[in-house]
Amino acid sequence: MPIQLYDSMTRSVRPFEPRDEGRVGIYCCGMTVYNYAHVGNMRTILWFDLIRRYLTYRGYDVTFVMNYTDVDDKIIERAKIEGIAPEEVTAKYSAAFEEDLAELGADRPSEVPRATEHIAGMIEAIAGLVEKQVAYEAGGNVWFSVESFPDYGKLSGRSLEDMRAGGRVEPHPGKRHPLDFSLWKAAKEGEPAWESPWGPGRPGWHIECSVMSERYLGMGFDIHGGGSDLIFPHHENEIAQSEALSGHQPFSRYWLHAGMVQMDAEKMSKSLGNVALAREVLQRFSGGPVRYWMLQGSYKSQVVFSQAALEDAVQSYERWRTFAESSRHALGELPEAPVATRGSDDGLPRGAASGYITTFIAAMDDDLNSAEAFASVHELVTEGNKLLSSTLEGDDSAREDLEDYVATFLELTRVLGFSFSESSSDGSHLAASLIEYLLERRERARKERAFNEADEIRDKLTALGVVIEDTPTGARWRVDVAPR
Ligand SMILES: [Zn+2]
Repeated sequence: MPIQLYDSMTRSVRPFEPRDEGRVGIYCCGMTVYNYAHVGNMRTILWFDLIRRYLTYRGYDVTFVMNYTDVDDKIIERAKIEGIAPEEVTAKYSAAFEEDLAELGADRPSEVPRATEHIAGMIEAIAGLVEKQVAYEAGGNVWFSVESFPDYGKLSGRSLEDMRAGGRVEPHPGKRHPLDFSLWKAAKEGEPAWESPWGPGRPGWHIECSVMSERYLGMGFDIHGGGSDLIFPHHENEIAQSEALSGHQPFSRYWLHAGMVQMDAEKMSKSLGNVALAREVLQRFSGGPVRYWMLQGSYKSQVVFSQAALEDAVQSYERWRTFAESSRHALGELPEAPVATRGSDDGLPRGAASGYITTFIAAMDDDLNSAEAFASVHELVTEGNKLLSSTLEGDDSAREDLEDYVATFLELTRVLGFSFSESSSDGSHLAASLIEYLLERRERARKERAFNEADEIRDKLTALGVVIEDTPTGARWRVDVAPR
């Protein structure tokens, strides 16, 4: 059965059939680079990183395009606040964004076009729309006429009347209809501007994505995505421009929209505060667990961001990492993950852990059900841990199965964008071993009634942020600040 995807345009789950057999083109609306990325933006981009990885795993040759909006009111405003040029603002925040993406384990997209590199293409597209009489010039501005495009509203499922009643409409003396949107903005004093047939100015926001997606992927490409907040007006406007200009539809075959991230102010602890920027989260948590938190639930659903949710993700992620580290210890070295792709013609894998590959693929094929895909990896780890104990007791057949479990674990977690094949070098496992050692020393000191020494160890660990809890089965500990 082919992969099934929920398409926002048809509001239904449909079999995925790309335009060109074996190849997939994905365009995801990226960042307006005027600030550090919000965790919500970052989650959307990470999801498209996963979609690209998964389709690659399933044998497709994927081209993934993500743009930077680097000319915009917000950038101009930010440049004034920071007292630097707009291009310094965009260079600073796009570099920061790329650092954060790398920390979160995202691969660089195939193409990362910037709007300012495609101004000539945008002017050409706008001129074409004016020529087709679906756009008009007024006082150096060019507007798209929504009434000239009968399908306007088909993505958001709203009529012009609904939108007029419900939306905030930008008034402008040159506009013929209140919902007409800007293709070209006449230059204002002190703002970046380019020469055009309508005088100096700069492009409106929406036209860049129509031009750049067609430039890299061609009309009728496969997947267009972004956050669900982009459905209206951004994606609606992209469709109107591209389909009106080319006379061809659909502009994109599937529309995938990621749910928004909500901030849970009540559940925010003091240490996390009202953090909304990915960069601030990454100052407190390392990339692996944050990626885990972002990808563990359906891309379509809204997720609530809180310290507790991140701490849960740290624990689950650490469970995976501990399995990899302990297996490395037991096996001497980690096996290679067997294959990089499992396209539809590969047949069923045959190893001891092959059932997990089958359930993982079934989950992800079913509209990218990552919750079930993550669950299948956890089930693998539960069984793998049993094999690990038997292996440590000298059971050779368990050892053989363990090798296949670990190879499968590495294969599946690699698809999800985690890298457990390198030994962790951040010292947190060493720290954990040392804490265990000190707690054992403390236990021994107590048995020997050397209470001063026992208390000293406890006080020292507490001062370092290790919370110790004595239970009937022995001391348990956790680090008060989530580990980096
Ligand atoms: Zn866009």
